[in-house]
Amino acid sequence: MLTDRLLELQDIDTAADRLRHRAASLPEMTAASRARQALADWEATDVALRSRLDELGRDIEAAEAESAEIDRHRDRLQAQMRTVIAPREAEALQHEIATLAERRSELDDRGLAALEEQSDVDDTLVGHLEQESSLRQTLEVADAALAVVQADIERELADLEQRREGAREVVDTTTLARYDRLRDHHGVAVARLVGHRCDGCHLDLSPAEVDIVKAAPEGEPAACPQCDRMLIR
Ligand SMILES: [Zn+2]
Repeated sequence: MLTDRLLELQDIDTAADRLRHRAASLPEMTAASRARQALADWEATDVALRSRLDELGRDIEAAEAESAEIDRHRDRLQAQMRTVIAPREAEALQHEIATLAERRSELDDRGLAALEEQSDVDDTLVGHLEQESSLRQTLEVADAALAVVQADIERELADLEQRREGAREVVDTTTLARYDRLRDHHGVAVARLVGHRCDGCHLDLSPAEVDIVKAAPEGEPAACPQCDRMLIR
């Protein structure tokens, strides 16, 4: 009977819809995407820590180079001091040496702070590196679990697609066109008359409408007067 074939087709389409919906909202997908994000965050932190270490290394080197330059300058000035006789000249040299000492002390402070931070960042990096393998493993396991579930769904969908083709072959093209139009519109094209109610739109039919549905030829679908779905008594 056509109505049986339509109900079978609808069952297959509904099962495929459920599977596709399931495929789009898999908890395994959420888990894999969380694991991927966690690893991406870890990698970003890794880059930031290493770039800070590079920066600190450069700061320390620059401070050391400038300090060495200041020391050489100071040595020259001190040598000059020993040959100076004019008090005004000596005073100017002393002032210059004092300014250099101030700058040297600033550089020492900066270098020391950078060294301390470098040691802190080194410690943080050690702890950070310890997390890497577990994050990568979590992602690998999550991806594998997702792939298994997705492959199952793909197989089931392929199976349903095959059954769907078979079910459509035994329905005439006019009815198929009506079925496809209703399915596009409602998702579910075929409804049953349960008592006085269409189980597609859940609306009650009047006694006269029920009579019209019941008057449809045996095995032929009627139409719900409310939602237009194929109505099977
Ligand atoms: Zn209806």
